[in-house]
Amino acid sequence: MSVSSPGAGRYAPSPSGDLHFGNLRTAVLAWLFARRSGRRFLLRVEDIDTQRSSAESAGRQIEDLTLLGLDFDGEVWVQQDRYPAYAAAVDELRARGLVYECYCSRREIREASGAPHVLPGCYPGTCRDLDDVTRERRRAALAADNRVPALRLRSGVGEWTVRDFYAGEYTGEVDDLVLRRGGQCPDWAYNLAVTVDDAAQGVDQVVRGRDLLSSAPRQAYLAHLLGYPEVGYVHVPLVLGPEGKRLAKRDGAVTLRQMLEHESIEQIRGRIADSVGMPGVSDMAELLGRFDPDRLPTGDVVWREEPRRE
Ligand code: GLU
Repeated sequence: MSVSSPGAGRYAPSPSGDLHFGNLRTAVLAWLFARRSGRRFLLRVEDIDTQRSSAESAGRQIEDLTLLGLDFDGEVWVQQDRYPAYAAAVDELRARGLVYECYCSRREIREASGAPHVLPGCYPGTCRDLDDVTRERRRAALAADNRVPALRLRSGVGEWTVRDFYAGEYTGEVDDLVLRRGGQCPDWAYNLAVTVDDAAQGVDQVVRGRDLLSSAPRQAYLAHLLGYPEVGYVHVPLVLGPEGKRLAKRDGAVTLRQMLEHESIEQIRGRIADSVGMPGVSDMAELLGRFDPDRLPTGDVVWREEPRRE
């Protein structure tokens, strides 16, 4: 990328609740990676899950990130404003014969994907090669129940390789992934929306939690099909709750707002700095000046309720 057109990093939370310590740490890391490489840093509201998202939650998340000291460039993009772009991408794929309707219920998929010849979590292709008469019948059956079929990608590969800053070369499964959900609430699917938006926003650096590494090959393959440039991935360690699973709100007073009830924003910044390998720093400018991605601890971080007193 030329100097006049720097690339961009982004943070893209789903507005379905207040941000917790793990989300904040990932946001800070995304900001650090973008800023230290001279990139723009964008915020995108990923509200395609219309049942769980709210504008109020998005507003609170933006307030929290700002309070933490992160700054963003340009306008905040909201995925619910982006539906025409998702539809255009699917139309393009459809024109090339790469989209098909899927009539399977969640249960059917769960049962079929538990079969021995199918990779866990992968769609087994049940609806891929149905004839037109069967399609018409299955479509009508769904319509009688006020439902629409899902749209899936007719994938030409079984796996795809991406490069990740920490994981190195990572090869993961690519199945006939969902592009638009089916049912009564036909939301656009995460892998499609994220891929279309990253390309449209000039994002060339994707920093996010390690739990999303397995999605990267699907997104990179989709980007390849749509002729988008490759992005650089940086999947960072997670913050784990007491049970060793990704930190969640049920794990206690983990949101920024809850933490602020018993500690200051400087202390919270200090905890984040500590967790990214820079103990004793609580100022964002200093954090940025001293950040070294090679010193980021590679293990997951375990959440501690009480702030460390040193
Ligand atoms: N919206 C996703 C989440 O909140 C993150 C998507 C991404 O960073 O690609 O988990």
